Amino acid sequence: MNNINNSENQSLIRLSQAQLNLLEVCPPQFQRVYLDQLSLPISPDVQENLLWGNQFHQLMQQHFLGLSLDSILDIDQELKNIVKALLKSVNEQHNLNAESWTEAEHYRSLEKGNYLLTAIYDLLIINENKAQILDWKTYLQPQNKQKLANNWQTKLYLYLLAETSDYLPEQISMTYWFVKIPHEPQGLTFEYNEQLHDKTTLELEKILSNLDNYLFELNQNNADFSHSKNCELNCPYYQLFFSEKADDNDAEEENRDLLSMIDEIEEVSI
Ligand code: SF4
Repeated sequence: MNNINNSENQSLIRLSQAQLNLLEVCPPQFQRVYLDQLSLPISPDVQENLLWGNQFHQLMQQHFLGLSLDSILDIDQELKNIVKALLKSVNEQHNLNAESWTEAEHYRSLEKGNYLLTAIYDLLIINENKAQILDWKTYLQPQNKQKLANNWQTKLYLYLLAETSDYLPEQISMTYWFVKIPHEPQGLTFEYNEQLHDKTTLELEKILSNLDNYLFELNQNNADFSHSKNCELNCPYYQLFFSEKADDNDAEEENRDLLSMIDEIEEVSI
């Protein structure tokens, strides 16, 4: 594989899929969260989900490093069942064999303009003629496949591998595995191709060019990021973000709601 980004330029602005999603949905919120670094309180429910998600990712990482999970799984039968079912499905569906090269928590990045696009694949499976990206999700499969196809996680992850490896887009796929006790794991695969790659390239150029403009205006004229053209005119967040009269507690609550729009497929780093 052709790793081209091992020496990273520190002056670049790093952008992950979560940041691209937020930038696309709500530029003012992107400014608040990533540029002004205003942290948001996390509700106990979200905290619990994040903890379980992190533990599950660690388990998978341990397994693909060749470490035994027995001591952990032997004390939790439900977890053991679901992990066994997931590994069986992964082995079968992705044709894991002695020829396969795998790496958990595989990091990829690519310089594009002023930005460093980054991704961490939960699992990368490399065979001679194909490369498969796997991502663990610790919730049930969403109904709307198209929404997931349009999410920057799907688009960016596929794009980065095509750009930073010798594989053709047609040889690359991404599969989400949805894991939630006590349900059977469900896999959802997105195949990549040249046409999708060209489409993502154009979309990326557009969103990065918009970000260039936002940053220029911010630096030159101290102008806040403007509202997305796709938003509804009566968006409740508008007043909450920018009205001086906005009540802080209300604003925090609404901020959490907005973040939850993208939180469901937020990358969990461990
Ligand atoms: S209208 Fe609302 S959701 Fe849209 S960009 Fe503005 S604050 Fe964000």
